[in-house]
Amino acid sequence: MVTILGRAKINLTLDILGLREDGFHEIATVMQSLALADTLTLTRQEEGITLRVDLPGLEADERNLAHRAAALVRKECGIRGGVHIDITKRIPVAAGLAGGSADAAAALRGMNKLYALGLSDAELCVLGAQIGSDIPFSLMGGTVLATGRGEIMQRLADFPATHVVLATPPVAVSTPWAYRSYDANPPAEHPNNAAFLDALARGDRTRCAGLICNVLEPVTEAAHPVIGDYRARMHAHGALCAMMSGSGPTVFGLFAEEQTAAAAAAAFRQETDAAVHLTRTAGRYEERNRGN
Ligand code: ATP
Repeated sequence: MVTILGRAKINLTLDILGLREDGFHEIATVMQSLALADTLTLTRQEEGITLRVDLPGLEADERNLAHRAAALVRKECGIRGGVHIDITKRIPVAAGLAGGSADAAAALRGMNKLYALGLSDAELCVLGAQIGSDIPFSLMGGTVLATGRGEIMQRLADFPATHVVLATPPVAVSTPWAYRSYDANPPAEHPNNAAFLDALARGDRTRCAGLICNVLEPVTEAAHPVIGDYRARMHAHGALCAMMSGSGPTVFGLFAEEQTAAAAAAAFRQETDAAVHLTRTAGRYEERNRGN
């Protein structure tokens, strides 16, 4: 039996560079993993893959990304034995935090360990990319520049340790809808990734905070003004910066002090109907069996 964490991510920058011939968007995004994580426990069984998720409504069959990841490893490595996967869900679903990808990455790592397959990180990334563009990032963790469809990874210096408040409003955002809306009406402001990488290399968190930018934020915010409201609240409660993650709808705020972050989280719980998480950035060397 093995227990593995699948960590949430936020996008500190997200740029769309164009539409590719394969129909995907060419993106350039700085991704950051968080301490907030789902826990996956994998147990060997005679045959087949079974899954239990503690969140009613979330698919617990072959559509679940963790199931798909385990099935892919079994097929590619010719494993006859089966696995039972138990998922404790903490990452809000369909929220722009890549919770499904995190679970798939954890299932890949778990199968590698459970069956002592000896697959390298690079080999796991190749398998992960077949299931979803965010999975190679989830396998790497830390701070990464992702390009291409999001599957080409460049390891960056860890973002300075920072407290993070996540506020997920009760609205549904479809990722394909956000990209289509972007195409129909692309916003003028794009992130300056070169400047962000330069500030990150110098460990200059204040400068990084001034450079966060997500081209999908105005797109999703036009349909869901609550995003602008949450961003303003984060600032009012002392955030260094605040922005929507991925295609949304989660808004994150970065905080220098734990106390300020905790007070902001408490205020969000009291004043809004957001699902609120108080967490922190996770560096590349953080153990995969720890989180909060
Ligand atoms: P996207 O990758 O589309 O940006 P997201 O990060 O916003 O997604 P996820 O939490 O990954 O959101 O969920 C996207 C969809 O994936 C969900 O609506 C759900 O139906 C499906 N899904 C499959 N497996 C999982 C899983 N293990 N955890 C969460 N969602 C899953």
